[in-house]
Amino acid sequence: MASKGIKVLKFGGTSMGSADSMRKVVAIVRSASIASKKEPRAAAVVVSAMSGVTDQLIMVAKYAAKKNDSYEKVIAKIEARHLQTIQSLVGAENQQAARADITRMTRHLTGAAKGVLLVGSLSPQALDYIVSYGERLSARMLVHILNDKDVACEYLNARRIITTDDSFGKAEVDFSISNKTIRAYFKKHTKLQIVTGFIGATRTKKTTTLGRGGSDYSAAILGAALRARVIEIWTDVSGVYTADPRLERSARVVPELTFEEAGELAYFGAKVLHPKTILPAMRERIPVRVLNTFKPSERGTTIVADEGERKGKSRTVDALTFKRPVIVIHVHSPEFFDANGLMASIFNIFQTYRTSIDVIATSVAGISLTIDDDTHLREITKALKKFGSVRVERHKAILCAVGGKVDAAGVAGRMFTVLGKHNVAVEMISQASGGVSITFVVDEDDAKKALKILHKEYIRGRV
Ligand code: ADP
Ligand code: ASP
Ligand code: MG
Repeated sequence: MASKGIKVLKFGGTSMGSADSMRKVVAIVRSASIASKKEPRAAAVVVSAMSGVTDQLIMVAKYAAKKNDSYEKVIAKIEARHLQTIQSLVGAENQQAARADITRMTRHLTGAAKGVLLVGSLSPQALDYIVSYGERLSARMLVHILNDKDVACEYLNARRIITTDDSFGKAEVDFSISNKTIRAYFKKHTKLQIVTGFIGATRTKKTTTLGRGGSDYSAAILGAALRARVIEIWTDVSGVYTADPRLERSARVVPELTFEEAGELAYFGAKVLHPKTILPAMRERIPVRVLNTFKPSERGTTIVADEGERKGKSRTVDALTFKRPVIVIHVHSPEFFDANGLMASIFNIFQTYRTSIDVIATSVAGISLTIDDDTHLREITKALKKFGSVRVERHKAILCAVGGKVDAAGVAGRMFTVLGKHNVAVEMISQASGGVSITFVVDEDDAKKALKILHKEYIRGRV
């Protein structure tokens, strides 16, 4: 198969969530499976678990670890939901085979849960294994439905093609191995592949997961490896909005964003894209479209390589998001006045504890940093005390405004004046020169209010 002229589609949990939504998925996949003059043919469809199933599987694992047999009821619910969907969508002659496939998998799942119950504790490795059933079940189910409707396709467990390290729960992808494996696999298998999102495997074939919401990332990994012409993220809203439409009713779709802008938005909390999605696409300059499964004719958002490829003009602020809760750590020391090597030692501490820093602000008297993962907060603060006095503030949020002209003179000033008028205190302002975003820290309780104020000021009234 030529690696040119194909696309990769991804359907999220709500799209996979019911018989009604699956009908929409089938229609979209059917038309994508045939190349047209305008559109490349789909080579892979990446799917999430049915909505809510990943959370249910986490419950299964936790119940089992506590030797609580309620896990059986939860598995029964998961099984019933898949079987009902099959009943609604698979014709009589193919029902039996489809049902048997699902019940075989849930039997194995029950076996895995029993294993956890016997051990009486839950390792991150066992949790990933149990959780992987969500995507495995939904992908299998979709294959049966599509085959029944004469859309030729095959099941592909991403464990066969995505190799990761063993950081269970948020595994890092080994691109040098995965890219080769993916290309080789797709060269051999030219039928449309229905691929489990979210999961991978270590070199020794232990199942891993890529982090919550990671199916978007799976699609980008595949799209980049196959040098797809486009990666389509099909979800339950009509694109990337100026703000989370669930929080801000007047939010509207942003027709175009650059990779850098979309990356910042995803990184700072816009759930519509997993934060790692943009990187593989950006490396290969593959456009990413965000589209609505329930309104497939809407234009959605196209994420393009850079300003040069943007068709419309950029705005001061294209979109707003926030990430919460975050923790701010302040280190004060007169030694910052002569900070040679000090910064490196401080960053080393965070690296040792694999805790990533989101925002940094420095002054002659110290440094302030934000993190969102408090797993090693105690060890980190202890180590930081070597450098000066340490103060930790919890319940904070990072607000992020992106836009092609957000770095223009006066933009930051006006933002803080407006927020100040509404008694929102702002700290740790960061605005890279030539950058596409301004970020700053506010109290977690003020985040929603601040977003609404800035949305009104910069986006709502705009023509
Ligand atoms: P999926 O299951 O398809 O991956 P997600 O729930 O992960 O869907 O992401 C879609 C949701 O992201 C939307 O329903 C919306 O509430 C939320 N969201 C947050 N910020 C934004 C934004 N800026 N634009 C669009 N959706 C957003
Ligand atoms: N099913 C996984 C989750 O709920 C991955 C995804 O939906 O992208 O986190
Ligand atoms: Mg998602």
